[in-house]
Amino acid sequence: MIVSKFVFITGGVVSSLGKGLTSASIGLLLRSRGLKIRMLKLDPYINVDPGTMNPFQHGEVFVTDDGAETDLDLGHYERFTCRPMTQASNITTGRIYSDVIERERRGEYLGGTVQVIPHITNAIKDAIRALEKPGVDVILVELGGTIGDIEGLPFVEAFRQFNLERPHGDVMFIHLTLIPYLRASGEIKTKPTQHSVQKLREIGIQPDMIICRTETFITAEHRAKIALFCNVHKDQVIQEEDVANSIYEVPLMLMNQGVDMSVCRYLHIDPADADLTDWKAMLDRVLRPEKTVEIAVVGKYTSLTDSYKSVYEALAHGGIEHRIKVTFRKVEAEDIEEEGAEAILSGVSGVLVPGGFGRRGTEGKMAAIRWARENKIPFLGLCYGLQCAVIEYARHVCAEPEAISGEWFDEEGEGDLSKAYVALMDSQQNVTAKGGTMRLGAYDCKLKPGTKAYEIYGSEMVQERHRHRYEVNPEKVETLEKNGLTISGVHPEKGLVELIELKDHPFFIATQAHPEFKSRPVKAHPLFAAFIKTATEESEKRAQ
Ligand code: GLN
Repeated sequence: MIVSKFVFITGGVVSSLGKGLTSASIGLLLRSRGLKIRMLKLDPYINVDPGTMNPFQHGEVFVTDDGAETDLDLGHYERFTCRPMTQASNITTGRIYSDVIERERRGEYLGGTVQVIPHITNAIKDAIRALEKPGVDVILVELGGTIGDIEGLPFVEAFRQFNLERPHGDVMFIHLTLIPYLRASGEIKTKPTQHSVQKLREIGIQPDMIICRTETFITAEHRAKIALFCNVHKDQVIQEEDVANSIYEVPLMLMNQGVDMSVCRYLHIDPADADLTDWKAMLDRVLRPEKTVEIAVVGKYTSLTDSYKSVYEALAHGGIEHRIKVTFRKVEAEDIEEEGAEAILSGVSGVLVPGGFGRRGTEGKMAAIRWARENKIPFLGLCYGLQCAVIEYARHVCAEPEAISGEWFDEEGEGDLSKAYVALMDSQQNVTAKGGTMRLGAYDCKLKPGTKAYEIYGSEMVQERHRHRYEVNPEKVETLEKNGLTISGVHPEKGLVELIELKDHPFFIATQAHPEFKSRPVKAHPLFAAFIKTATEESEKRAQ
């Protein structure tokens, strides 16, 4: 018999409360008690997935092993729970509707009127139940957006029905809300939370636990008030204060208030003792760093941290591994175009160029890469970062000043395709749809013995996640190699370039993949760990 239990997590008052972090933290706590968990993020927007959305609007697109382009909250889930997510872990309104409409076209509703209730709500419940498998103890379901949003309603209604259909003790509702602090009067306010819970109750959902995001400590009196007006027991009013140092403190903050045991009690689960040894050891390294290093991240969306979420996290993990605190110089590539690399990058210990799309900013990225290459400053390139590094190398080392990416030709008719060092592969030639059509998900990469990459990864065959259309042009590999670029990793069957590096440089490595998605605070990705370590050592050497 399948006996999974469910925790539904909703948000109140405002968005960006850290619902993803809180859900991930609860996931970690349950897992640390030996429970097998699954996580699901439901997004009420109409895009089928976030793959086509602008990073400025939505932040980073997180890619799973099975090639799903998903919400960045799945990144938190993976980083906290150390479990890979899948296509089934992120469902949007767009996905639900497109499935229902497809079924309608196939005649599967037998002439009936297709409606939000029951057809859309049934499809939502099916998506939730799809995660229910023998052996899975708890499924955490996080709803994006805020209670009261029109677009979220079908989901909340589906939750209500879901609860009704399950035996008592199978479902728990957690509401995460903001308790604002009014500086002028020095008070905290519970009214918005009361209203948010009223909205939930109107639809028929009574939260079992309220997690309060606050700037300051909330007193027992306030807790009692929230409990009374929101109809929850006062022990179930939890405080999630802003953390001073690291988001990785959140799980312990919740554990100290008994959140994990409360969830288990509600769901009638008798768990093992919590084992957070690795997490606590990691936190100790975060909170007591011995060194600091500054890394420049040269991108196009640097004003919004979420656009490169996993990249910043992975860099931080690299530091955590070696008790090094990583600080970021967030550089807009176009500023380098205006002011020059030296003016903007001078003093940093490492340069990272992340993934990206389109021509804008690429000259600045290439100038940054050239600066790092010539000044022997450690450089790590990710995806577009590798492509820019290859074109920069072709232009300035292989004496191919007209080297371009086919992407620029396709976008703006720029240049001559015979000079494309980065080109569209056959499989992408006739693809016109934008959504879900890239090279996506985990692919093998075979490393060349004797290279730095081989040494860093410590194995010959590795798997990394991809999300791109263009590849290093196989016809140009010979020129690149002849001029001293090392191809340190290739796709074993297709021979496509996966990793490049330079010999006479302390650390100049770029990958066609997105290793940042697989980095964890308790286990940094080896490329990031090695990058931060070398960047720190090299800057120490320069300082001597
Ligand atoms: N724009 C490049 C491509 O499509 C790189 C994509 C990326 O960096 N994720 O191939």
